[in-house]
Amino acid sequence: MPLHSKRDIRDSLLDDVYASTDLAGGLPKYRFPEGEHDPRHVYSLVHDELMLDGNSRQNMATFCSTWLEPEVHALMNECIDKNMVDKDEYPQTAELEARCVHMLADLWNAPHAADTVGCSTTGSSEAAMLGGMALLRRWRARRREAGRPADRPNLVTGPVQVCWHKFARYWDVELREIPMQGERLIMTAEEAVRRCDENTIGVVPTLGVTFTGQFEPVKALSDALDRLQGESGLDIPIHVDGASGAFLAPFCEPDLPWDFRLARVKSINASGHKFGLSPLGVGWILWREQEDLPEELVFRVNYLGGDMPCFALNFSRPGGQIVAQYYNFLRLGREGYAKIHRACYDTAQFLAAGIAEMGPFDILYGGESGGIPCVSWRLKPGANPGFSLFDFADRLRTRGWLVPAYTLPPEREDLAIQRILVRHGTSRDLAALLLADMRRALALLDGHPPSEPLTEAEAGGFRHA
Ligand SMILES: *Cc1c(COP(=O)(O)O)cnc(C)c1O
Repeated sequence: MPLHSKRDIRDSLLDDVYASTDLAGGLPKYRFPEGEHDPRHVYSLVHDELMLDGNSRQNMATFCSTWLEPEVHALMNECIDKNMVDKDEYPQTAELEARCVHMLADLWNAPHAADTVGCSTTGSSEAAMLGGMALLRRWRARRREAGRPADRPNLVTGPVQVCWHKFARYWDVELREIPMQGERLIMTAEEAVRRCDENTIGVVPTLGVTFTGQFEPVKALSDALDRLQGESGLDIPIHVDGASGAFLAPFCEPDLPWDFRLARVKSINASGHKFGLSPLGVGWILWREQEDLPEELVFRVNYLGGDMPCFALNFSRPGGQIVAQYYNFLRLGREGYAKIHRACYDTAQFLAAGIAEMGPFDILYGGESGGIPCVSWRLKPGANPGFSLFDFADRLRTRGWLVPAYTLPPEREDLAIQRILVRHGTSRDLAALLLADMRRALALLDGHPPSEPLTEAEAGGFRHA
């Protein structure tokens, strides 16, 4: 090789990343590139582009893990090549998943933990689909057995997360979602039972309602459904959407009966990547007993080697999240989870007290027991402070905080609220910094009120439903 070409190569090897032709010139954004590019250059380009995303730790809207121990990062890296579906190739990963299911059966007080069936999913949404499908199948089988029509199924819920709207639409099930009414922002047992009939495949209470964070009353619902059965013979199962609560109540409110201690609770879903403290991409669903999961929903495949039962909407998916879940269970135990979650509840209450003190806000839920570690509030009814919660949220964004404002679902769309989720990694100190920024934002809004007139909803709902 002639000397001058060697020098060319060496020159380009020593190029500063940002002086390289790739980065100094720019790469295509919407057209498939013809040739290859240097990995260091492309890494810097992608890395820098991600800088424009919000800072997840300041995202007070999300329920999902935004801080993880270094050991979890290490395990995730080690598991980058593990496919959860391939249980023959990665039997130990499959074994860890099975152990997690047993541990959860124990945590959720399954009467015969060893008979409990369940699996990991990509999150609570997939788990909800599987839970809903099992309810639908079981109801159909009962109706057919009784020689009754099985073409108009319905599902009764409180104000639910969007996954249940999806389930209802994808599987053609009528969703009987109890609307909010006045100050009642969650399901009550009476309202749920009123909507039940012979076509009800199940009732879904939520442990940690998305909008306000409150737990719905599973025990009262179960009792009311027992009475309904006594009076009418209708035997309606409960599936608990414990996306958040199923990883909170067992540690922080162990005496609250919401789980398999109630015979009517047939299945439970939870998000491992929320208060299960695992990285994004893991959920769980468990059925009380084998017979609660219709056998025809389980597929057996042999082309990966072995005879593998499989109940999931997808096929290949990463195993690291499940391994990290197992790590967390061993690492933290009941004590560790309780300590972390309690610190979050304390910080939520600290935030609620600080926000209440500011003047314009009414706390709807302040992170006490009976819900998840979050704070939700509204503008004081009747008082118009000259700004909306949406303006307030906008101001907070200038310091990087994402504190969402939104209107409530049907029958209380007139009411705008704001909410902060307190998660692992939201320290007392960070919360104090957020409060200081909230006070600063209020002072600024006071001096410079937004010019647009407020709609009723934005002004916090003067019209009372
Ligand atoms: C987050 C959430 C879901 C959806 O869970 P993913 O894990 O995000 O799929 C469902 N229900 C409730 C109550 C939730 O909070």
